[in-house]
Amino acid sequence: LGMPSVPIKLADRRVSRKIQVGSVAVGGDAPVSVQSMTTTRTSDIGATLQQIAELTASGCQIVRVACPTQDDADALPVIAKKSQIPVIADIHFQPKYVFAAIDAGCAAVRVNPGNIKQFDDKVKEIAKAASDAGTPIRIGVNAGSLDRRLLQKYGKATPEALVESALWEASLFEEHGFRDIKISVKHNDPVVMVNAYRQLAAQCDYPLHLGVTEAGPAFQGTIKSAVAFGALLSEGIGDTIRVSLSAPPAEEIKVGMQILESLGLRQRRLEIVSCPSCGRAQVDVYKLADQVSAGLEGMEVPLRVAVMGCVVNGPGEAREADLGVASGNGKGQIFVKGEVIKTVPESKIVETLIEEALKIAEQMQKDGVES
Ligand code: SF4
Repeated sequence: LGMPSVPIKLADRRVSRKIQVGSVAVGGDAPVSVQSMTTTRTSDIGATLQQIAELTASGCQIVRVACPTQDDADALPVIAKKSQIPVIADIHFQPKYVFAAIDAGCAAVRVNPGNIKQFDDKVKEIAKAASDAGTPIRIGVNAGSLDRRLLQKYGKATPEALVESALWEASLFEEHGFRDIKISVKHNDPVVMVNAYRQLAAQCDYPLHLGVTEAGPAFQGTIKSAVAFGALLSEGIGDTIRVSLSAPPAEEIKVGMQILESLGLRQRRLEIVSCPSCGRAQVDVYKLADQVSAGLEGMEVPLRVAVMGCVVNGPGEAREADLGVASGNGKGQIFVKGEVIKTVPESKIVETLIEEALKIAEQMQKDGVES
């Protein structure tokens, strides 16, 4: 249905250990997962669960919640229990919240190495509690909170500094036989970040959580993340991703899923192949593409719909898609699986495409095409 039966791959996946974040496997042969973080006060259980529900509906597979206070820690048991997706508690300073998160049934705990030194003597206890509960730990190295010792050694948060920090941190847990770990080495500069992950990938077999930290507002953050994740994932590096945007978290999921779909790492859903329009266009392509996108939003089947402005590339692209339209002379030629099935007036293009899309989707579901 518009896709080759043997997908062309970019690179073999790096071989990493598989860990289990609640119901979601990360690493090994598990599909690359998409995650985000809530922006609510975690202590506000209702608002947090509401946002988690929205994230779940948008396709989020793992969610992280901040836990800076005792009130937040107290909220974790209910949130972990009621969330439909695994919840990771994000803890920066107090070891007591790490224990609280493990006791609360969180699927994993994220700790920050720049701060964990303060609870060096607690690493053994944390390793034991996490091991007993089967709770993995994410070691989250971040350029902004890098250990002072490493900042002095390297002068700034270089890829080497980030990697040394992460591996040193992992070694603190390894000393106690704990290897149920995933690692991130985030930086706001995609070039530094990509180099850090490449070095880290070569030096350990832990699954990697990709992230460009403080990536910025939606447009800039989307580009930075797409470029950085694209570079790494195309080399087989990365087991779970988080797009960080100064925008509602559901936007992060949309971007993350689209990155994975673009790289063929996730079953594509609805895809609109629309032309950029040019001086030959005989229809308002932007408007038409928007209307078709809006009309088909939420459709979960892997449908490729071509919306083309004229008959130059139009019929060719429309034929390659499951469904498409090539416009010209105030009319639209509607294609289904390579055949022109009808020609309709311009005013009927959107409704005809939606009608045909629904028919194809129904047939796909009957045929058992996975969404
Ligand atoms: Fe221009 Fe036609 Fe190509 Fe669209 S399909 S960009 S209108 S030539």
